[in-house]
Amino acid sequence: MDSLRLLSRGSGRRLTGKDSVCEDKRPSAGSQQASDSEESSTGKKRKRAEFEADTNGKLDECTIEKIRSIQKQQKIRITNLRALHKAHDTDNRKAQKEASRLFPQPLQKFSALRDLDVNHTLLSNLVEQGYREPTEVQVATIPLLMPRHGEEPDLLTVAPTGSGKTLAFLIPLINKLSKTHQDKDAHGPVRAIILAPTKELVVQIVNEGRKLAAKTGIRVTAFKKGMRLHEDILSVGQGISDESDVDEETQYTSTIVKADILVSTPLSLLHAITPTTSDDPLALSNIQNLILDEADVLLDPLFRAQTLSIWSACVNPELRSSLWSATIGSSIEELTISTVSSRHKSLGIKSKSAPLLLRCIIGLKDSSLPNITHKLIYTSTEAGKLTGLRQLIRPSPSNTSTSSKAATTPSAPFLRPPFLVFTQTISRAEALYNELKYDIPPPSSFTTTARTSTVEPIPRIALLHSSLGATARSKIMQNFRLGKIWILITTDLLSRGIDFRGVNGVVNYDIPTTSASYVHRAGRTGRAGREGGVCVTFYTKDDVSYLRPIATVIAKSQKTQGGASPDGGDGTNGLGSGVPSWLLDALPHLTKNKKKDLKERGVDVRRGVKESDDKKERRRKGRNMIGTKSGYEKKVQDRRQGAIEGSRRRKENHTNGVGTEEEHDGGFEGFD
Ligand code: ADP
Ligand code: MG
Repeated sequence: MDSLRLLSRGSGRRLTGKDSVCEDKRPSAGSQQASDSEESSTGKKRKRAEFEADTNGKLDECTIEKIRSIQKQQKIRITNLRALHKAHDTDNRKAQKEASRLFPQPLQKFSALRDLDVNHTLLSNLVEQGYREPTEVQVATIPLLMPRHGEEPDLLTVAPTGSGKTLAFLIPLINKLSKTHQDKDAHGPVRAIILAPTKELVVQIVNEGRKLAAKTGIRVTAFKKGMRLHEDILSVGQGISDESDVDEETQYTSTIVKADILVSTPLSLLHAITPTTSDDPLALSNIQNLILDEADVLLDPLFRAQTLSIWSACVNPELRSSLWSATIGSSIEELTISTVSSRHKSLGIKSKSAPLLLRCIIGLKDSSLPNITHKLIYTSTEAGKLTGLRQLIRPSPSNTSTSSKAATTPSAPFLRPPFLVFTQTISRAEALYNELKYDIPPPSSFTTTARTSTVEPIPRIALLHSSLGATARSKIMQNFRLGKIWILITTDLLSRGIDFRGVNGVVNYDIPTTSASYVHRAGRTGRAGREGGVCVTFYTKDDVSYLRPIATVIAKSQKTQGGASPDGGDGTNGLGSGVPSWLLDALPHLTKNKKKDLKERGVDVRRGVKESDDKKERRRKGRNMIGTKSGYEKKVQDRRQGAIEGSRRRKENHTNGVGTEEEHDGGFEGFD
């Protein structure tokens, strides 16, 4: 069994009858029932199933009434952004807002893509990957991006985590490029750029793109160190023909990249188009499409200058830009509008002939998925968090006595692996890893490759952060996907876009510092409509004044679940679920400055000790460090533990016979 493929995106299997990845509920399913009953009670509109039956997947058979109804059911809202922003100046804002809404034909079934004259190979790749029914974001945006009449617009999309945004931008892009692709064997120059904030997300998008673009002649490449997009910087070398596994370690090549779609982080790409003697990037005149995945991060101050530089280097008047995220605030929206219009001005494109700028929102803006159970756990102190996490990993007998069935329900007092643990900083992730690395025993026996050399078993708990090398990072990602690693301790590096299909839970060991960060961390579970995901957030007395944004997201998500208000347990034993209303009422509001400081620097007691800190501050920060033992005690313990492990392995090796055993310890064996 290839567990990597099972956890990977798409099932990789051909569908037969009921055997479909699409058996998962759509992300809006949590609140679907409510809207169904609401509609049947009015008796005015028919249910979605009926639409599917009577439209037979055809694109052009929906009347405006039907489209309105589909948009309502699937919580789709498409708006002409320029018209909407003009509406701000008028008295009758509500009417103008309504007037700026659009009702284009939705894509009710992937089979309807035929009507859009989609590349046949692309369509069969889609079927091959096991995708049968489009998700809400695909229903709404695919027809927008491949219009049969009129022009492709610029687009800003806000849709929940795990709702299928990647496919929504890849399908129209691959299709468009395949239409103008002359020679299957000749590649370059690059015609589309996809930007993403982390290397891990770049790799994931490339892998997804390659599966969809297989045999279409469209080449998708991850940007690698040494690649160049411009001949003015380096003389043309041999074109890179890059179909190697992108998980491999990056190799140095100093050649002009030959690919149709290039996926990159902003900084690497900017380096590649900026001559060493100037700060100005060279023009990317062939780029027809620029896609910003996790756009709010890419336009956040950290990446903003780099992203905008690349955007303005794309000088093709035909450029179409699209921005995608689960959380796009009004400031990013305004920045998008102003960037698009100043681009048009500088390129001499008159506003009348400029393409439309549309916004598509799926579900409630900036909210967490309704299919995730949220738990806020008060631990008072840092030490309490460690105990709380150990309890989640290895519940005490009193907690486990609730039968094995309880372990599989969201209300169970412990988490089934695999799960992710987020900390505020790299050093805290390292400290937590050092505390926990012996908490789950490694596999009882392990693979060996040669008579003389034994291969170390892969620890069940691992650490991933941006200071690790590229090879180590991709190995850890792979082992987590394979189910060899059960618990992955990480920072916000993994909070965006990463799709581990079977992740059962997320633990915020340190509270996230913005509501968006909470939405994205929690969104690593419950992907593609999967039920049973749990997001646990520990908080201490130092966090209380920062908790309101998180509690608000949880409360909003509870509302969309349509469930009764949770009692919240006693608020101290770690088993209370959700946010009780008394807690939400009691939590203080954050000032603008406090919010900004929290976002930029995290909770202050968890920041590293500074030279300027006085004795009292140092003691306070010391108390908030992870771990209960001194460095010396830890070293002695680690050495002793290492010796025990080594001796145990030697003994087992001896009894099993070297080179004969496969991993088998009766525990968790990867994702299903
Ligand atoms: P997002 O970018 O919105 O967070 P992804 O694009 O990463 O979400 O997709 C999340 C998961 O949903 C992936 O595993 C993907 O394979 C799956 N998925 C996407 N579209 C569909 C679909 N139409 N049917 C079933 N699964 C889908
Ligand atoms: Mg994504």
